[in-house]
Amino acid sequence: MLPFEEALKTVLDSGQPLGSEHVGLGRAVNRILAEDVTSDTDIPPFDKATVDGYACRREDLANRLTVIETIQAGVPAVRAIEPNQCARIMTGATVPRGANCVVMVERTLNVGEDVIRFVGEETANNICHKGEDIKAGEVALYKGSRIRPQHIAALASVGNVRPLVARRPSVAVIATGDELVEPAFKPGPSQIRNSNSIQLAAQIEDMGGVVQDYGMVQDIPAHIDSVFKTAVEENDVVIISGGVSVGDFDLVQEILKQNNVKLLFEKIAVKPGKPTVFGLSEKAYCFGLPGNPVSTFVVFELLVKPFLYKLMGHDYSPVSIQMPLGESITREDSDRQSWIPVTITDRGALKPAEGRFNQTRLRRVEYHGSAHIIALCSADGLISIGVGVAKIEEGAMVRVRLI
Ligand code: AMP
Ligand code: MG
Repeated sequence: MLPFEEALKTVLDSGQPLGSEHVGLGRAVNRILAEDVTSDTDIPPFDKATVDGYACRREDLANRLTVIETIQAGVPAVRAIEPNQCARIMTGATVPRGANCVVMVERTLNVGEDVIRFVGEETANNICHKGEDIKAGEVALYKGSRIRPQHIAALASVGNVRPLVARRPSVAVIATGDELVEPAFKPGPSQIRNSNSIQLAAQIEDMGGVVQDYGMVQDIPAHIDSVFKTAVEENDVVIISGGVSVGDFDLVQEILKQNNVKLLFEKIAVKPGKPTVFGLSEKAYCFGLPGNPVSTFVVFELLVKPFLYKLMGHDYSPVSIQMPLGESITREDSDRQSWIPVTITDRGALKPAEGRFNQTRLRRVEYHGSAHIIALCSADGLISIGVGVAKIEEGAMVRVRLI
């Protein structure tokens, strides 16, 4: 059985970038930048007032100041500020020549017609200088960044309206199992609803992949073979759920081999998720994931997601935070790395009577195993217990990977 870290390295080493395309900024969210983006302008492009007030010379702050003009945002200042002069100025407007500070309107008094006086004790300059945020030609965003809404604003600010982004991988999803019925139907005796296809589709779309759903296939070799052959021709990646363990009707590995898929591993030392298969065909990357929905979810999260990001040139590093365990966790077998769903309790809530914050802690969700998809709904994250570790004590600090 391959240790999880080695399995992850194997899939990441296999993934080659897919190429790139330009997209309009309005469609760029969740895409991965395929080149460094430089700014075509200084930002801000001019010395900019950050408050509404009066632009003047700091050396004149003790004096009465004559207001020589009003400068609104979007209109250049006309006159330079001379000693004991000021200009009324709006937030976002250009600071006039000669001025080196802007006093807030709230800190001034009108002391005559077009004459004001500063009445504060001290003032910041309240000027954002030309090029202070970024200079023309500097890199604003790096290749490989995942574009979030704040990145869209940054791209707009530097004038990049059709960013070059990685092509999205097309991912086939095939669910195998004689017992499966589509979710819209009530399962008959011995039947199970196919929740994996829609779950995988959601996970793929959530991270920016394109899903091709090939539906459910019975555990009949010719049927799986035929759907697989089509999927492999039409996609970059094929994910097959179910049929990868050691039961009489677990046929996926055989079918992959018959189709000249070179299997790089067929089992990994992780719980849930042991019967995970990864292989390469000439046309596509192929994953076989265990059928249990929690296993499918976890293996996608741990292995497939970083891999799909790799195809898009993004080095995925999920946020994980350290928190104390609210209860000790023990397990019987410690021969595999375990991923355990946990919930965050007492989320820093203030206890008013005691005037203090409760400590945020992790608790295990009540979890019956890898078919218990409902349990995963109340989990905030997953914690990992390493090979050879049978117990983690209450109060120990552990890393939780948020899901
Ligand atoms: P398998 O990996 O095919 O041996 O399936 C393991 C378990 O996962 C069985 O209990 C299946 O009924 C269940 N299972 C398999 N495929 C799905 C699916 N698409 N949706 C929900 N449960 C599934
Ligand atoms: Mg099955």
